[in-house]
Amino acid sequence: MPQCHKGAGRGSRRPVIAVDFDGTICEHAFPECGELKPGAKKVLDLLSKQFDIVISSCRTSKMFEHEGGKYVREMIRFLKEHEIPYSRIDGGDEGKIVADAYVDDKAIRFTTWASVLNHLGILPPPGFIDTSSA
Ligand SMILES: [Mg+2]
Repeated sequence: MPQCHKGAGRGSRRPVIAVDFDGTICEHAFPECGELKPGAKKVLDLLSKQFDIVISSCRTSKMFEHEGGKYVREMIRFLKEHEIPYSRIDGGDEGKIVADAYVDDKAIRFTTWASVLNHLGILPPPGFIDTSSA
């Protein structure tokens, strides 16, 4: 498990795993909910035995306030329909969710800054020497 937040005032509480929704639990079809991603239910059932699963989705963004929570309600309906286990949905009100691990289809796994540029298909600036892994 990543080192992030280990023992950071957590006491005996279970580790938290933040899980994205669109493109991770369901196929991308925003604003609709796409089909359930293969394996999502079985893996989340398994993870729920060890982790508090917190759904972390852009659907809670203030950007979509004009929709009156419609996208969140649709997500909750989907989660119930497919019996996806979760402890809560993060509303983003307190900033980035504190978690021990993050599952997101748009995440870039950080190893070095050079790898980030490589992932995005961007050439490093002239003279760039990556010392981030040192
Ligand atoms: Mg996503």
